[in-house]
Amino acid sequence: MERSVAELVKHIGKFLGTSSEAYGIFNGEDHLIGCNHAFANLFGDSPDAFLNRHFDDLVRNAFRKQHGIKIDSGDVEQFIDMTKTRRRSAAYRVFEVDMLDGLWFLFSEQTLANGDMLIHARDITKQKKNEFELHAKSSKLRKLALTDELTQIANRRSFINSVNAEISRCSRNKAKMAFLLLDIDYFKNVNDTYGHLAGDAVLINITQLITVLLREYDVFGRLGGEEFGIFLADTDLNTATEIAQRIREKIQQHVIEIDHQKMSVTVSIGIALLNQATKFETLYKRADVALYQAKNGGRNKVVVSDQG
Ligand code: GH3
Ligand code: MG
Ligand code: MG
Repeated sequence: MERSVAELVKHIGKFLGTSSEAYGIFNGEDHLIGCNHAFANLFGDSPDAFLNRHFDDLVRNAFRKQHGIKIDSGDVEQFIDMTKTRRRSAAYRVFEVDMLDGLWFLFSEQTLANGDMLIHARDITKQKKNEFELHAKSSKLRKLALTDELTQIANRRSFINSVNAEISRCSRNKAKMAFLLLDIDYFKNVNDTYGHLAGDAVLINITQLITVLLREYDVFGRLGGEEFGIFLADTDLNTATEIAQRIREKIQQHVIEIDHQKMSVTVSIGIALLNQATKFETLYKRADVALYQAKNGGRNKVVVSDQG
């Protein structure tokens, strides 16, 4: 052995004994040859108590004492079986383990040709916390990017993405689909009469009224201003018309109270049907023509596009 390495080996013990990093060595049969306090603590006992004990016993000890490593399944034998499938699966491997007290450790496992295995673990709680925070932030940002701020339903971009995915899925399954384009009637009057905040409240109100009428897998989004889109997968003409009429009636009947003033609004709906892959833009144009007819026909109406 090189002299420098030999010196390291001679002196390293002084550091390992009191190190906050955990070290444990097992023989080829997974019996503990030796470990420091930090290591024994991960399994809820002292180094001497674990000497010559099998790795599985260390795990059982941690579980019995509810100390150290967290055993998720609640079934320690199942946990041990799982560790067996991974242990010694590579000459060197690293993995993260969370503790019952909320700490996280990065474990490394190094196996020699004779079967001896060194396990080292160090506290990575700080990094994990940062990682979780970053993850939470990015999911929040992702959600923000997909959600309409006022109504909290899908925004235009996210609505179109979901609809395109649904069109592909339905056309693969040769299923019928319907797209409803909904626009509030004389909404400008609401703003002019009651103020912009009241207009916002109406938008939120209408979103809620529609949401409860839809099925879980229907796609609902705000396309902009006071215009909403609803995409109904696996839906034929009759069902689409029925749903549109139900929405129209419910909104018409609903009384909104703003600043002790009672008011109500109506909506017009254009429906476009499809039974094969079509670009969203084409679908939208068809529904928009139908919507225009509903407006021209006096509003508070449902019109089905005759193109398709
Ligand atoms: P029509 O029956 O033909 O649809 O008439 P309308 O008044 O609803 O249509 P128009 O397009 O003339 O007006 C839409 C109004 O919607 C104008 C705009 O100020 C208002 N609006 C758009 N977005 C919002 C919003 O987020 N909040 C509020 N309060 N008003 C909005
Ligand atoms: Mg309008
Ligand atoms: Mg409009």
